[in-house]
Amino acid sequence: DLSHAGAVAVDDRPDAAGPHLPGTLEARAVSAWFGDRKVLDRVSLTMPGGQVTALIGPSGCGKSTFLRILNRMHELVASAALAGEVLLDGGDIYDPRVRLTEARARIGMVFQKPNPFPGMSIYDNVTAGLKLTGTRRSRSEQDDIVESCLTRAGLWNEVSDRLKQPGGALSGGQQQRLCIARSLAVRPEVLLMDEPCSALDPTSTNRIEETIRELASDVTIVIVTHNMQQASRVSDRCAFFLASAGTPGRIVEHGQTRAMFSSPQDQRTSDYVNGRF
Ligand code: ADP
Ligand code: MG
Repeated sequence: DLSHAGAVAVDDRPDAAGPHLPGTLEARAVSAWFGDRKVLDRVSLTMPGGQVTALIGPSGCGKSTFLRILNRMHELVASAALAGEVLLDGGDIYDPRVRLTEARARIGMVFQKPNPFPGMSIYDNVTAGLKLTGTRRSRSEQDDIVESCLTRAGLWNEVSDRLKQPGGALSGGQQQRLCIARSLAVRPEVLLMDEPCSALDPTSTNRIEETIRELASDVTIVIVTHNMQQASRVSDRCAFFLASAGTPGRIVEHGQTRAMFSSPQDQRTSDYVNGRF
């Protein structure tokens, strides 16, 4: 029983409610296909523990595909194929002995469109992941997890008096922070975020950016963003992806965000970060 086995791996870790050590994620020569169409070509990137790595580049260059490969969502697409390795703290997440539930608990994902379970209470949204991984906890342990995760997601003060209200009743920005809290409940070492602010207004975007910066000390974050100001505000490191007609997505340049923005090594990076694309 996969879900049970995965839960054991998750449960064995100490400090149920608190954060886990941030993990270092490393992609080695990752290539990806949909059918016979190659969309990523030997992408290698280290995303260091406790840092924010931004994936930037034009639409269609494979950023979302790369992000999904980092938590084994790519394999859900029937036509998808994959080569290369993804290591979390040196361990291959595609090793057949690693359960999917374990990989997903250690590497969480937040999407562009906030997707809380709309009819489910705020409280139950946060604890939903614990149930999916088969983890059983007492009511007071769950209360602690809900408070700590909502606090870390920057939402506790706004919702602490109405935890029984449905998640769908919150504003878009609050729903996104609820999704972040839900991801945090299983104590991920890495949080992947695919354009988490693209559907949000500027105020909500600011709140999410603050949350990202605060989380970064104990969760490794990989964020896809089209917004260059956002990339420069929230990220420590950047990777610039590019695919040109007929060629699959590759990383043109990666490194410290400050250096990428102030003195890009490749003309194409310079053009992109300066909005000339
Ligand atoms: P980005 O996030 O950078 O915009 P994507 O990773 O979404 O890029 O897409 C990379 C390429 O893979 C695109 O050409 C896209 O059309 C293709 N693609 C993405 N998802 C699928 C899918 N499920 N089936 C077939 N092709 C896909
Ligand atoms: Mg995308």
